[in-house]
Amino acid sequence: MRAYKYRLYPNAMQRKDMQTHLWFSKNLWNDMLELTKQTYADYGKFSSMNALNELAKTSGLYSQVSQDIFRRLNKSIYGMVARRKKGIDAGFPRFKSMDRIKSLTYPQSGFSLNGKKLKVSPFGEINIKLHRPIEGAIKTLTLKREADKWYAILTAESPSAIPKENNGEAIGIDLGLMTFATLSSGKIVKKPKHMKVYEDKLAEAQRNLSKKKLRSKNRKRAKLHVSAIHSKIANTRKDWLHKAANNILSQYSLIALENLDVQGIAEEHGKGISDAGWSIFTNILSYKAEGAGCKVVFVDAANTTKMCSGCGEMVKKELHERQHNCPYCDLSIDRDHNAAINILNRATVGQTGSNACGDGSYAV
Ligand SMILES: [Zn+2]
Repeated sequence: MRAYKYRLYPNAMQRKDMQTHLWFSKNLWNDMLELTKQTYADYGKFSSMNALNELAKTSGLYSQVSQDIFRRLNKSIYGMVARRKKGIDAGFPRFKSMDRIKSLTYPQSGFSLNGKKLKVSPFGEINIKLHRPIEGAIKTLTLKREADKWYAILTAESPSAIPKENNGEAIGIDLGLMTFATLSSGKIVKKPKHMKVYEDKLAEAQRNLSKKKLRSKNRKRAKLHVSAIHSKIANTRKDWLHKAANNILSQYSLIALENLDVQGIAEEHGKGISDAGWSIFTNILSYKAEGAGCKVVFVDAANTTKMCSGCGEMVKKELHERQHNCPYCDLSIDRDHNAAINILNRATVGQTGSNACGDGSYAV
């Protein structure tokens, strides 16, 4: 299953209706939960499906959406029972406030996509921007609100039963902080410049928010602005990471990456690194690889920077030294380029067959 996210452009009426249905969702969740808790307190058992269905019927929600809320509540109560059976002190799920309700899910039907419109019961035809095509049969729809924007998230079962054979070469990738990635071919993938613009905007919006009076209308507006920029940054970054990953996938058949402990590195170097998008990037590469006819290999990350890719000797360097100069074999290349070649070499050692690409020598 793959998820596709598209921006929706509802008209004023649809926007208002969807917001109302979020409110219905909150009410239904809380009503179902209250009935369940009360029944449990009074009779020592869970409320019947019929009793909960009655609540769903009068909730004002489209049946598919209320069905999904019922399913989610059921799932968390099952989870609670399972944990209690194991002797874990687990409580009921929580009541939800409006802040916690941001989406309406259609698990099977109630929607259809035609051209530039997404037809959704009971909101009618909503304008949608399909910026990339959907592959496979569409299964579920989630309408999601982020700040004041609406999105449609469609999941589709991909038809990629037959993996393609990609005839590209093998490549090693070193993910970095100065440049986003350096390839073993020497090619560099720079960090996107436009992110800086948004980050500045975010900082300004946050300063602005901090000056507003508590519980004022202006503060509410400023808060919405901050969350809108957050969501813009996240979406822009994700789009960019998808593009960068697709670019790699379309060119290479074997992709070697370091097995990075991103969490560990983030703790060691402070904030910022966890934001670099490495884990999202490697996840995209991993899950898309098969469909693109590629293989992704993770290699041991130890000493990939220190080791000389020419002769295998260890060459110490400080963090600020951007060049690898080997005193043993005189190899002189960019430090990240050197690391990328090491990463590739580790992935292809002892490899034969179509993915090994040629004679297995990748030194410059
Ligand atoms: Zn050397």
